[in-house]
Amino acid sequence: MPVPQSRAEWHLLAAELRYSTGHFIHGEHVAARTGRFTVVNPATAEPLCEVAAGDATDIDAAVASGQRAFREGTWRRMAPRDRLDVLNRLAALIEQHAARFTLLDSLCMGKPVRDMVAVDVPQSALTFRYFAELSDKVEGTVTATAVDAFHYTLREPLGVVGIIAPWNYPLMQIAWKIAPALAAGNSVVLKPAEQAPLSALLLAELFVEAGAPPGVLNVINGYGADAGAPLALHNDVAKISFTGSTVTGKKMLVYAGQSNMKRVSLECGGKSPQIFLADLEDMDRAVTYAINGVFGVMGEVCSAGSRLLVDKRIVKEFTARFIERGQKAYVAGDPLDPETNMGPLVTKKQHERVLGYIAKGREEGARLEFGGDVPDRPGFYVNPALFTKVDNRMTIAQEEIFGPVAALIEVDGLQDALRIANDTIYGLAGSVWTSNLRSAHEAVRGLEAGTTYVNCFDHGDPTSPFLGHKQSGQGGDKCLEGLLSYTQVKSAWIHLGS
Ligand code: NAD
Repeated sequence: MPVPQSRAEWHLLAAELRYSTGHFIHGEHVAARTGRFTVVNPATAEPLCEVAAGDATDIDAAVASGQRAFREGTWRRMAPRDRLDVLNRLAALIEQHAARFTLLDSLCMGKPVRDMVAVDVPQSALTFRYFAELSDKVEGTVTATAVDAFHYTLREPLGVVGIIAPWNYPLMQIAWKIAPALAAGNSVVLKPAEQAPLSALLLAELFVEAGAPPGVLNVINGYGADAGAPLALHNDVAKISFTGSTVTGKKMLVYAGQSNMKRVSLECGGKSPQIFLADLEDMDRAVTYAINGVFGVMGEVCSAGSRLLVDKRIVKEFTARFIERGQKAYVAGDPLDPETNMGPLVTKKQHERVLGYIAKGREEGARLEFGGDVPDRPGFYVNPALFTKVDNRMTIAQEEIFGPVAALIEVDGLQDALRIANDTIYGLAGSVWTSNLRSAHEAVRGLEAGTTYVNCFDHGDPTSPFLGHKQSGQGGDKCLEGLLSYTQVKSAWIHLGS
């Protein structure tokens, strides 16, 4: 299916789009057993569809299916290069169905189709290809022993992996987790975000079309408390890989302790600083990154550079350029228009939450330079906002807003910037802009964050890990380590003596 080129073509395709709204268990779409919930299109505020609201019984069925597939071993014991072929075929199918994936996510959570086409869909296909290629590169070791023994270690899949996903990059976030879990030979039970549950069902269907046995990838839809919690509490689930808020991430640790001590990996929230030092080389480039880093994808990005720490020697010029360009950079529009670079926020609740933070910023004495108002159109839109005169103790500097709201804080040199940058519970990402090599390395070492950048922001590819320090998480996605986190080491001691 070719990717539409105009707004009219996207709308035509959206009107014809057919999709599943149930669960996916043992290689088949399964209708809702009990209730359904409504997904609302945030660009129109109109209901989009009714989706199966799964519960513990559905989770039991999916875990049993995953367990059966794992025990039967068709996938787990498949020659790694054959698994590689299946995952590569899935990557090709994602590309073939790019327009459908784009619409499914865009209609549910409001992301502009241009972002889906440029980033989410190709990055998801790339992720499957990257982990496909790693399928046959998982190795053990032979250790040094006395001559009466031979000892080696091997890495084995864990069993059934539970994945709980957020709504902001629905397809891409699940690709980051499913691809390594599957490449390592595990079975998966996925609980997508209730706000954007549709692309996961298409992915599961295409995985079977690519040649995977039934039961290796199962999807149960539903709310976190009803479907996510039973998955994380399940005694037959060997690991929970979670991406979402820090508050929910902490619950995963509790669930693991209350059940079978399963492994837990967490990708959680952030309040990431971008430090702009007085000796930065290219102010225009830095301002461009600052604007895109906080306003891109409606600010609904865990690693958004939402705190701008600007040296007092350049703050006047930086602020003037940010105001001039930042208030025009993102314009609310129809997400299905390829020209649109700013869609709505995901839900009415999120809209109210972001507006609440904007009101709080004003109340606490920050200066609203522009934006923060609601454009005159249906849907849950908010215009990007810049606050200056922000103190790092203010709510808008401490709490994750998950909307297009920038907090500019004046700093006095690198040490002051690092002190403020690290004065947060979060540690997801951080950057420094400088032309001084020593300052660059000092900032990389000094920033308490899992992902750091120098003279750029939000770059990366499947080879670079994505992970949080502090309360932004533990464990991580992508890269070889990402794959290994879905395996466990076994020690084998062979007695050779008499
Ligand atoms: P959320 O924590 O509300 O929900 C995430 C997922 O957890 C959803 O599938 C939800 O249904 C499920 N869930 C909720 N309560 C649960 C419970 N009690 N038990 C089991 N599952 C439960 O987060 P969200 O609003 O969907 O996503 C936004 C958050 O995700 C932000 O904080 C953002 O920073 C974070 N995020 C982090 C990354 C990262 O890689 N670090 C990436 C994207 C989003």
